[in-house]
Amino acid sequence: MDTRKIEDGVRLILEGIGEDPERAGLRDTPKRVAKMYAELFSGLHLPENDLLKPIEGETHDEMVMLKDIPFYSICEHHLLPFIGKAHIAYIPAGQIVGLSDLVKALEHFANRPQVQERLTTQLADIIMKQVRPKGCMVIIDAEHLCMSMRGIKKPGSRTLTSAVRGTFRSRQTTREEMLALLNNHHQ
Ligand code: ZN
Repeated sequence: MDTRKIEDGVRLILEGIGEDPERAGLRDTPKRVAKMYAELFSGLHLPENDLLKPIEGETHDEMVMLKDIPFYSICEHHLLPFIGKAHIAYIPAGQIVGLSDLVKALEHFANRPQVQERLTTQLADIIMKQVRPKGCMVIIDAEHLCMSMRGIKKPGSRTLTSAVRGTFRSRQTTREEMLALLNNHHQ
């Protein structure tokens, strides 16, 4: 990542909005933002070959569900955060993965300029590819600050996206089982 370019860019933005990038409060802002962006967009530069590692010797063939996983990502259209929760379910075809690996995979794809729809499908696709389950379903529920702070200004409105693969797509009862598990929590 070229942090010098980020710093130059932030300085230009400050000038563009009519600020003085040399005043005390702003002098170190380009550097701070560059450091922050390196962290927020770190997912662009990390390998994803084995994000999801099967747990040796463990098998299971019933639904596994991880819900209410908090995440932060950055909307690629406005470079403002979208913030929410992800729910991930899969039905193993034998092998299972560590739950923390699923959280890491979510963070991996969230740490880049994103749109919620793509974040949802990338997560479902990598689970299908690396865990090889019978099926999986990912639901993401998020608030986009670009909708809350500007434009239509609807604070609190949420966007829901889902990606459905394998048996979750072909069997309605499987989808219903996941949704029942999800809703159960919120009662
Ligand atoms: Zn946006």
